[in-house]
Amino acid sequence: MISNIAVMRGVKSLKDIDVSGKRVLIRVDFNVPMDSHHNISDDRRIRAALPTINYCIDHNACSITLVSHFGRPGGKYDERYSLKHIVKRLERLLKKRVVFVEDFESSRDEIATCSLERVFLLENIRFYEGEKKNDPELSKKLASICDIYVNDAFGTSHRKHASTYGVMEYVDTKVAGFLMMKEIEAFSKALEDPVRPIALVIGGAKVSSKITLLKNVLQKIDKLIIGGAMSNTFLKALGYDMQHSLYEDEYIETAQHVMDQARHHGVKIYLPVDVVITDSIESPVDIKIVPAQDVLEGFQAVDIGPATVKLFSEAVGLSNTIIWNGPMGIYEIDNFSKGTYKIANAIADSYAYTFVGGGDTADAVDRAGEADNFSFISTGGGASLELLEGKILPGFSKLDRREEEL
Ligand code: ADP
Ligand code: MG
Repeated sequence: MISNIAVMRGVKSLKDIDVSGKRVLIRVDFNVPMDSHHNISDDRRIRAALPTINYCIDHNACSITLVSHFGRPGGKYDERYSLKHIVKRLERLLKKRVVFVEDFESSRDEIATCSLERVFLLENIRFYEGEKKNDPELSKKLASICDIYVNDAFGTSHRKHASTYGVMEYVDTKVAGFLMMKEIEAFSKALEDPVRPIALVIGGAKVSSKITLLKNVLQKIDKLIIGGAMSNTFLKALGYDMQHSLYEDEYIETAQHVMDQARHHGVKIYLPVDVVITDSIESPVDIKIVPAQDVLEGFQAVDIGPATVKLFSEAVGLSNTIIWNGPMGIYEIDNFSKGTYKIANAIADSYAYTFVGGGDTADAVDRAGEADNFSFISTGGGASLELLEGKILPGFSKLDRREEEL
């Protein structure tokens, strides 16, 4: 058993406390994929929070307030990232009225008036500068509108932010929601005694926040399969000219280090041998498949090519545990989605224990029609990688613990 998971399993959950007559603040993760017309393309994360919300309703909490982040607005108001865009969907799923709260401090009295006829949803907490800074003032303010804090935001439980971490300093009763418990149980099953070889398939765009994790994960896996924008940084480190592709200059050295470490630990690395390139993402005139070494001048790599699909598919086919986070290309655009969907098919078709994490990756698996063919779909991407690293996630670390464990 990975000891960090055992520690996290020992926290109190909603089941262990009495919520009746109490003001409950639930940190949820409503950071759902959304298109430019505010259509929610995958509401899995909202649906995943329903058991916790409904439990509080069924057990007569005084009031229920939901707090979440959405996107990366950078500490200030930005209409594009307003959570008002999800109110309707939430009302439909909950079958209840949802009161959208733009400024929670001025709604304090309303929240304190017991009525389960409606649920409160606070505006995007990342509109406050203090959220990401884990500012004690913001934490105290959040604590002051509740009696009980429930963390059910598994997707952000690896962050030390005011609403996911700092707030717990100032609330007497803080417990995990059902999603947090479900996720940790699934990880415990997957990682307790994993069947080797273990393959980690990594992609997506959040290179800076994920690449550093890779170093620590290498001791735990047998194969590292890299695609998406993540692989551009590695290909760049191999000396290839990636032209206008999305890669991160500051992390080229880290990529090099990951490759050296992999060699040291006997981990096999798989990188794209061919890529789909385009002259423009929005209005492509020219789309080509080229060897990874031959990205044309002014073009960018936006998906893995067919030879890479074959290579990666064979590598995952020979694995017994597969962990996947991050799409292989810009899967939201049809022309650049094939690599991601084919890898989704290959992983789903394998006989391995298959585990997928990350908002976009889960969305891609759904679109590929493979959602039922994975062993477990986690709502957390970065969080699942940090679990794999062996870390105790901050979102769990300050929760109350079950007494028998003390
Ligand atoms: P997750 O949400 O599953 O953790 P990320 O947020 O890290 O995954 O990455 C998903 C994003 O990565 C998608 O929006 C996708 O378009 C983008 N992406 C993947 N490959 C590329 C690429 N080659 N160039 C630009 N963006 C990419
Ligand atoms: Mg994402």
